[in-house]
Amino acid sequence: MMNHIKSMTLSEMEGVLKELGQPSFRARQLYTWLHKGARSYEEMTNLPKALRDALAEQYPICAPEVVRKQESKADGTIKYLWRLTDGNCVETVLMRYHYGNSVCISTEVGCRMGCAFCASTLGGLVRRLEPYEMLDQVLFTQVDSGLPVGHIVLMGIGEPLDNYDNVMRFLELVNSPEGMNISMRHISLSTCGLVPKIDELAEKKLQLTLSVSLHAPSDQIRDTIMPVNKAYPVQQLLEACRRYYKKTNRRISFEYAMIRGVNDTEEAAKQLIAQLKGLPAHVNLIPLNHVEESPLKPSTKQAVIRFQKLLEEAGIPATVRRTLGGDIDASCGQLRRKYTKET
Ligand code: SAH
Repeated sequence: MMNHIKSMTLSEMEGVLKELGQPSFRARQLYTWLHKGARSYEEMTNLPKALRDALAEQYPICAPEVVRKQESKADGTIKYLWRLTDGNCVETVLMRYHYGNSVCISTEVGCRMGCAFCASTLGGLVRRLEPYEMLDQVLFTQVDSGLPVGHIVLMGIGEPLDNYDNVMRFLELVNSPEGMNISMRHISLSTCGLVPKIDELAEKKLQLTLSVSLHAPSDQIRDTIMPVNKAYPVQQLLEACRRYYKKTNRRISFEYAMIRGVNDTEEAAKQLIAQLKGLPAHVNLIPLNHVEESPLKPSTKQAVIRFQKLLEEAGIPATVRRTLGGDIDASCGQLRRKYTKET
């Protein structure tokens, strides 16, 4: 459903305005307003009043409402819980790094992938987000916080490749020179490993960073924590990653949540090293965030460091992700989950 005005590309907007008897520069003005986070047509004072009225009638615009906002005292991370027009809620996190501010956005309300360690999937998939609802998270985080956003990660609630068309359109919008103009190189897309969609994405040859949530080096382990592995087992997934690298020449980032006694052993590290052989990769070790409903526990600090050391010694760049916003439930569906349980 691309008839929401903010999900339209500039040329589609030109088409709409042409039908309203308007020259194409009006479309550019409108596009600019929308991509600056205008909340109503009334604000768009350089557009004729009659046009604003016509647009308001045919293409109502809206902004998500802040339900909760939490700011970490430790590191300035800000977490937003937004209410969408249909009443559903999603989360966005703004993180502050030395290279600039980055937002982590949600791509779906809930998720159907069922990963055992993840809070976002507990209530299943409610619905997919429209392109403009992803764009709104970036725009209104920037407007509300007053902090310029230069980087985006698609690592919030939802599986981006399970909402493929809408996510691709969102990327086009946020990357457009007349809009936020965020470079693809400043965007990371994270997936649990939907192989056919990884291949489809490879064909587009985008310069974004593909992050693959691997979390385990073997089917034996991965099957127990990620149901998606039954459909696309480790070998198939890594073959898709190799094809992706060949097509795009972009190094892949693998996410690996360290779970005590499950995937953090020396044996697991050795298997992982063997699996990644010859594939330009980077491994991001993430200390597991404990989710109340799950029996899985984070690895010890020593286990994480030992694992990292083994990878590094084998020539695989591995970093331990700095955890931000630990004091504000700033990970994957935790805030939405809490809110839903309370209300
Ligand atoms: N669905 C996509 C993107 C959203 S999840 C994906 O699976 O990649 C973003 C990342 O957070 C994924 O790597 C996911 O596996 C990880 N994650 C989810 N729950 C976590 C938890 N409790 N602790 C640490 N990482 C978690």
